[in-house]
Amino acid sequence: MTLAYGNMPLDRGTNQRKNKRWLAAEFTREDTLFCVIHEGQCLFDRDEFLAPIYLSKTQLPTVTVDSCIYLGKGDLGKGNLDSQKPTEISIFAIDFNKLRFSTQEALIEMGQWQELRKVTANLSAIDASILALAKGLVHWHISHQFCGQCGHGNRSVEAGHARRCSDCRNMTFPRTDPAVIMLVERMFDDGVARCLLGRQASWAEGMYSTLAGFVDPGETLEQAVIREVVEEAGIIVENPQYIASQPWPFPASIMLGFTAVATSEKIDISQDDLEAAQWFSREQLADFSIHSALKSGEEAPIKAQYKMSSGDSISSYLIKAWLNKEIGQY
Ligand SMILES: [Zn+2]
Repeated sequence: MTLAYGNMPLDRGTNQRKNKRWLAAEFTREDTLFCVIHEGQCLFDRDEFLAPIYLSKTQLPTVTVDSCIYLGKGDLGKGNLDSQKPTEISIFAIDFNKLRFSTQEALIEMGQWQELRKVTANLSAIDASILALAKGLVHWHISHQFCGQCGHGNRSVEAGHARRCSDCRNMTFPRTDPAVIMLVERMFDDGVARCLLGRQASWAEGMYSTLAGFVDPGETLEQAVIREVVEEAGIIVENPQYIASQPWPFPASIMLGFTAVATSEKIDISQDDLEAAQWFSREQLADFSIHSALKSGEEAPIKAQYKMSSGDSISSYLIKAWLNKEIGQY
């Protein structure tokens, strides 16, 4: 089971990409592809199928290797149709704002910009993973322009996987912030197992999700699970069990999925920012509608009282897996 954004077909070339000659050769190959990120959005075809647009070097005439981020090399099924052999293609990412005005105009003409998460349901697992990586790394460059030690400008080095201060030479690397997300369950005195879900006021009406939160410095993942649930819902849990992880570069996280067993029942949301939290039985969860971007041609689901968290998230995976008794004790 691989979750959305985790199906990465590319070999990141961690050792090779530091070699400038190797990188320049990959950059100039005819079949090398580029994906452009514009203020966090990706470029797609104008039609309703929303195929992602990967560009060739000839479509980006003035782009230099130093302004690009090397994502990796792999067989995307986009290679030479006459050849039976899989074709390994290198892919780079670039920030739209680094392009010349005439190229920007051409791209605006060529396709449409969309938030990746809004169209993930239409994409192949591979495209979603590559675009998520591109989006996360471009965001990291934009948000780390200055040195954290001395405040002078940083420059991209190592194929876009590090930034070095132009003054004190301090190196900065892309960060990933760990967040735990947990399906909390409890067997109630009436013999019915229920799970704990919560919602934030800003979410779509009726949408509920598993509780989640960032791991604090100096904390184990298990301690973070226990702390977050008591902070957000006043529920005591024990026995956190790791289930799965999901890259979540929106902008820079990894979600670490757990189950945990509650030893208390009374919910108290007064200490944190949840709008509501509630115990749900499997019978109730079965009536949840799936909240996700509709594929073209699909009709909106019948309005249900409750909605599942977004279909691309590990939250919906954990809830569905618990509903089907694939995870948890009860
Ligand atoms: Zn510095």
